[in-house]
Amino acid sequence: MSKTFFTFYGVRGSYPVADESVKKYGGNTTSLLIETENDIVILDAGTGIIKLGEYLKNSRKDIREINIFITHFHLDHLMGLSFFYPLSDEKYKIKIHYPKIDGIDINSALFNLFEPPYSPIGKDGILADIELIALDIDKNNEIIINDNLKIDYFYDPIHPIHGVMLYKIKTIKKSLVFATDIEPKGKFTDELKSFIKGANILIHDAQYLDEDYYDKDTPTKGYGHSTFTMAINNAIEADVEKLYLFHHNPVYSDSKLENILKDVRKKFKNSFLAEEYKKDIL
Ligand SMILES: [Zn+2]
Ligand SMILES: [Zn+2]
Repeated sequence: MSKTFFTFYGVRGSYPVADESVKKYGGNTTSLLIETENDIVILDAGTGIIKLGEYLKNSRKDIREINIFITHFHLDHLMGLSFFYPLSDEKYKIKIHYPKIDGIDINSALFNLFEPPYSPIGKDGILADIELIALDIDKNNEIIINDNLKIDYFYDPIHPIHGVMLYKIKTIKKSLVFATDIEPKGKFTDELKSFIKGANILIHDAQYLDEDYYDKDTPTKGYGHSTFTMAINNAIEADVEKLYLFHHNPVYSDSKLENILKDVRKKFKNSFLAEEYKKDIL
């Protein structure tokens, strides 16, 4: 049975940062690679997907088919797509899975950024064979990549204003939940908690310190993101083995994140900061 690995290519939330202070954990916006000997799955297409595309081009020359899963259409999760190398190479078949939301035209949502005036390329620059796959937000149909790699999804409507899809990557023995851009309305729903329950790896939105979330003058509550405290509580309640704190706040430096991690580990020992180009095994 081939092993399944995951590698963070973009860990930052909201917008990319190019600054010495974020050099260690990384300033690219969200993109996660899941790979086996024969399969490539990518979650989200933030600026991190650009380097990921270079990796596929240079180091995974065997790959012909790529499955991309989009959590939602906010720019930080999509802005790297037009620079993703495989789209411009006809040897690739690229399946893009996305939450089917009333009122969102998928072609505009994904591809307007390829067109003038945003870009000179135009959709004609896409040479790969693209297949768009709508995911029904009202029910979960398991997606089978291979016998040892399957994907469940769960739609949470709260992230403003069109909700967000959570994904669960499953091998025969293990599972990884990708839960970015989530915020409770009072409490997280039982449905969301049961989706996370028992995952081996939990990658959880942790954009805010409590002091910023509940700040008296400029609170960030309602922006659609979790606090570190929420991520810890979900990890404990779901009884996960390992927690990755993710969607780092663009104004939190590496040293600030490392200080926060020390506190987080007092409550949930097996916690880590998502870090660009860090590879782990599922
Ligand atoms: Zn985001
Ligand atoms: Zn978002």
